[in-house]
Order: sequence, then structure tokens, then C-alpha cells
Amino acid sequence: MAAVTEPTVPTAPIVPSSTGSSTAANVTAANANAADANATAANTYRLTEDQQMLRDAVRVLADEQIAPRAAEIDRTGEFPQDVRALLASHDIFGLPFPEAYGGLGVPLLTICLAIEQISRACATSGLMLAVQELGSLPLLLAGSHDQRQRWFPSLASGERLIAFALTEAEAGSDVSAIRTSAGRDGDDYILSGSKRFISQGSVADLITVFAVTDPMGARTKRLSCFVVEVPTKGFSVARIEHKMGLRGSPTAELVFDQVRVPSANRIGAEGDGFELAMRTLDRSRPGIAAQAVGIAQGALDVAVAYAGQRKQFGQRIGDFQMIGAMLADMDAATEAARQLLYKACTEIEAGSPDASRWSAMCKLVAGDAAMRVTTDAVQVLGGYGYIDEFPVERMMRDAKITQLYEGTQQIQRLVIARDLLGKGS
Ligand SMILES: Cc1cc2nc3c(=O)[nH]c(=O)nc-3n(C[C@H](O)[C@H](O)[C@H](O)COP(=O)(O)OP(=O)(O)OC[C@H]3O[C@@H](n4cnc5c(N)ncnc54)[C@H](O)[C@@H]3O)c2cc1C
Repeated sequence: MAAVTEPTVPTAPIVPSSTGSSTAANVTAANANAADANATAANTYRLTEDQQMLRDAVRVLADEQIAPRAAEIDRTGEFPQDVRALLASHDIFGLPFPEAYGGLGVPLLTICLAIEQISRACATSGLMLAVQELGSLPLLLAGSHDQRQRWFPSLASGERLIAFALTEAEAGSDVSAIRTSAGRDGDDYILSGSKRFISQGSVADLITVFAVTDPMGARTKRLSCFVVEVPTKGFSVARIEHKMGLRGSPTAELVFDQVRVPSANRIGAEGDGFELAMRTLDRSRPGIAAQAVGIAQGALDVAVAYAGQRKQFGQRIGDFQMIGAMLADMDAATEAARQLLYKACTEIEAGSPDASRWSAMCKLVAGDAAMRVTTDAVQVLGGYGYIDEFPVERMMRDAKITQLYEGTQQIQRLVIARDLLGKGS
């Protein structure tokens, strides 16, 4: 991987203290008016000095302390508790949480900058921050003060991890097909059912679970959202999946066998679960786009360094026009995805009425860019790209998931098309 000659690893905390200000203050588009589509379209953004500092500091941390671990994490398939401790010691888990609850309260763009830089070195490690945000989003969007006070400080410090349990065996793209039930029993609910493909589900201390509270209700009113604290009676991990990529991130099947959950753990009102899940994904998909951009950049860096050194036919392979053109296309695709991601973050943070579309567009473009760029990186390295002496084969395997989870690419297209057609355009 190309060496990064930037500042040395900072001591904890890594995050500049003033990053907690609102996005509106952090972007040139400070006065974006969400209700005024024309004004929003005319605005642009720049990273603030704090955001640039954070990006560079996380990049150095990732290059020096995470990248050297990435191949081993992939080979062993073990959840890297050491990387978790590293992120915690540098306050990185605190990024999504409000300052009032022990976090740093930074804008979505800043969180994505951190995910991007970590994923550039190791996609499994980047997902840790993305999932900490994903699992917490229902609480960030609709949690009560008591719930935030109870859980956010330990999540912000990284002492506790949280997972997000929406998917089931028969309910993937079709969230409304969820069967896990939550029946009332006095002041408690009894959760029964199982969840599939839950990232970090076996290492999390808290799990945000979506379950049916009104089986006869309308499609979007059947679900409610709960926080389950584990371990608890009736909860078990049925299995961990064996995966193509992202191998250090445990993807778990979770069983809830009459798990008792106090009503104080319900997020929002009964029946709000479907809408809360959709609002969560609007805000979390940019995190996956950031992971994809980071993976693409990591693969591009390796390909450029290799093409500058490898000689065939007496010259650097990078000087062959076909290889040079491939590198140029990879760079352009990565940068285009990055710019769309940053713009999407800015629009979502500013309360754009088109948040779903921005979110889906950035994940769609970034996921496809990551898949194409990593595949081309393997091509640039020739046979060496296909063996694990170089990281690009791992990056190619890791890239694939960004086209699948938090909604497949087909589902992103559905969201975008529905948004366009809904407006009659
Ligand atoms: C490694 C990994 C980690 C994950 N982490 C989590 C997690 O933490 N929490 C969680 O809740 N879930 C998680 N998931 C689940 C993931 O979000 C789902 O796998 C994904 O949403 C797709 O659902 P599915 O696999 O059931 O595919 P399906 O919905 O069965 O889709 C199969 C195919 O049909 C297509 N398709 C489906 N519906 C339509 C349609 N209407 N129009 C056109 N095409 C369509 C899909 O695009 C896909 O190509 C994870 C999955 C994986 C593999």
C-alpha cells in the first residue's frame, strides 16, 4: 500500500474538541434551506479544518495500527477486539453521540470521513464504527432522554457495542415481512423469533430489534423497535456465517425465545418501527458508501504503487497506456463516489426533503465504484493481485458486501426511482 507521509499517530483523544458544532456551521452551504430545492442545489460544501484534521489523523492511525492487522483479521475471521480498543481509546466511537451524553456530536459527514479512512485499511474495522452508529440510530432519532442517558455514554466510550437486528430469513429486502413478534405481558413485552445476518450480533451488548406488535395492522404500522440488553434469558446466538469477505466482522443468526423486554426499552411509540427503520437506513447508508469509498481508495493506492514499480517488456507497467487508463478510470470513479457521498451527507444533515434519494444514490454509486475499482486493481497486479501477498484480493471480496447490505443495489434504485416518480418528474 502506498505510504502515507502525514502527521504521526496522535495521542488520544484523536478528535478535535470543536468538531461538535452543527453541520450547518461546518459546511460552506451553511444556510441551506431544506425547503428550498433550488437553493440547496446551488450550495456546495468544503471540509472544515477540523474535519480535515480528523480525516488525516484517522488515516495515520489506520495506516500505522490497523492496516498491519488487516490480513490477519481476514485470515483468522476473528473479531478484532484490539482494534475495538484502539478505536475506543481514540474516542472514535463517540463521534455519532451528542456531547450531552458523553459523545462528540459531530455531523454525518465527519462520521463518514472516519469510516472511509478506517475502511481504506480494513473494511471489517470500518464497519465497527458504522454499526455502532447504525444500531444507535433508532435511539438517536426517537429515543427518550432516559434511554439516551442510560445507554449512550457506554456506547460513546466503546465500553459497549450495539447491533441492529432488522433482517430475518424471510424478510430481507421486504422489511414488512418480519415475523419476530413482541406481545404484551403486563408492563413488559415477550419477544419471540429469529434474526439473520446481524453484524456484530454475537459481540454486541445491546441489540436494536424490530418486531411485530400489531399483526393485523397496516403494512407500515405492524412493527415496533426495542433495545434488548444481552445476555438475557431466552437469547442465543444460533450461528456465525462463513463469509466471502468482511471476515473479521461476525455476522450472526440470533434467536429470541420468549425474551422479556421492559416497555421502557421500546423506542418511540408502538407501530413506529417500520418508519424508524426506514429513517435509520436513510441516515446509515452513507456510512456504507463511506466504507465503499475507503475500500476503493485502498485498492487504488496499492494499484498505483504497484504499477509504478513493476516492470515488464523493460518498462513500468503503469506506462502502458492500457494500464494508465485503467488507473485513471479507477481514480475518477473513486473521487466521483466520494464527492457524491460528501454532498449526500451535507444534504441529509441539512434536513433535505430528498434524504432518502441522496442516501440511496451515494450508496449505489459508491458500492458499484468499490466493486469495479477493486476488480480492476486485481487486474493491474496480474497474478499477484489474485494471491494474498497483496491486499487487493481481500479488498475485492470486501467490496462486494457494499452492494448488498443496508439494501441491495436494486433496492437503492427502487428508492431513487420512487422518489423521482413520486414527484411526477
Ligand atoms: C455480511 C452481512 C451483514 C449484514 N448485516 C446486517 C445487519 O447488521 N442487520 C440487518 O438487519 N441486516 C443485515 N444484513 C442483511 C442485509 O441487509 C440483507 O441481506 C439485504 O437487505 C438483502 O436481503 P436478502 O439477503 O434477504 O436478499 P433478498 O431480499 O432475498 O434479495 C435477493 C435478490 O432479489 C433482489 N430483489 C429483492 N426485492 C426486489 C425488488 N423489489 N426489486 C428488484 N429486485 C429485488 C435483491 O436485490 C437481490 O438481488 C447483512 C447481510 C450480510 C450478508
